[in-house]
Amino acid sequence: MDCYTRLPLDSIRMKRLIFFFVTSFLLFCTNVLGWGFYAHTKINYYAVFLLPPEMMVLYKPYIQFIQDHATDPDKRRYIMAAEAPRHYIDLDYYGTYPFHSLPHSWSQATERYCEDTIISNGMVPWHVLNMQQRLTNAFIKKDLLAILKTSAELGHYIADAHVPLHTSSNHNGQLTNQTGIHGFWESRVPELLAENEFEFMLGTASYISNPSDYIWNVVLESAKAVDSVLSMEALLTKKMGKGNKYSFENRNGIIVKQYASSFTKLYHQQLNNMVERRMQQSIFTVSSFWYTAWVNAGQPNLRELSSQIISSKDMEVLENLNKEWRLATQIIGREE
Ligand SMILES: [Zn+2]
Repeated sequence: MDCYTRLPLDSIRMKRLIFFFVTSFLLFCTNVLGWGFYAHTKINYYAVFLLPPEMMVLYKPYIQFIQDHATDPDKRRYIMAAEAPRHYIDLDYYGTYPFHSLPHSWSQATERYCEDTIISNGMVPWHVLNMQQRLTNAFIKKDLLAILKTSAELGHYIADAHVPLHTSSNHNGQLTNQTGIHGFWESRVPELLAENEFEFMLGTASYISNPSDYIWNVVLESAKAVDSVLSMEALLTKKMGKGNKYSFENRNGIIVKQYASSFTKLYHQQLNNMVERRMQQSIFTVSSFWYTAWVNAGQPNLRELSSQIISSKDMEVLENLNKEWRLATQIIGREE
């Protein structure tokens, strides 16, 4: 004898429907943060190990801070409207690769297009350069908190500039029926594969003599890769069928619908390890920008700073961002 009550068909259908909506919501909730929190913290962490000993003396003891605050810019996107455009640039708005109509200097770009247009299409390369100057100034002033906070956040923006879909108006595949691909590329792939399969020990940081040219090359490389990022996913979806694209997997104790492990691994192979290569390049660039700011500031002695501590009042101010972020419900402005 059945010891449970059979549910009417409608009720079963309703439960399935609710499950589908909840899991779909969870799937797409994980898709909206640049590189994902996981990859941003890894990139900042590994960038520390490329620094020369004169910098490592400060960055190593504060490595936890550098990791923890790698994600502050994404948290601010839930609080400040001005934050969103700092994370991307829709280069396709300006024509086709290599986008000759868009001047790389801020003053020339805002002269050719109006400032509102430039800002609304994203400004990541210019913001990286602003942050680089801010870090140089922090080194000149030997301001411990500003050095650490700006290093962590500069790392975030540089990493975002390496993500192909941060350079396209089709940023989440929404124009090509591939919604969700943003988080797939930058969160699902590294979260599944980085720990055991990616190589992150990459030598040493280099001095960058022209940071503007360097970061513009980064976004142009990203833009060049957009076609492959989209077309490989479409091809694989066709080849494997939609039924094999997603699976229900346990994520931190919750069953969520996400891109299937087998689909994710195949995508990574088809892209010839692009996600790993862009993570590696991010790490090298972050470390090299930190190093360049320190050199340009006259190579201040950081050993004397390493014994200072951040006051509890300053830590409280930093913690306020976390509090506001936890209370916020959605990103202000465009998702990445
Ligand atoms: Zn971001």
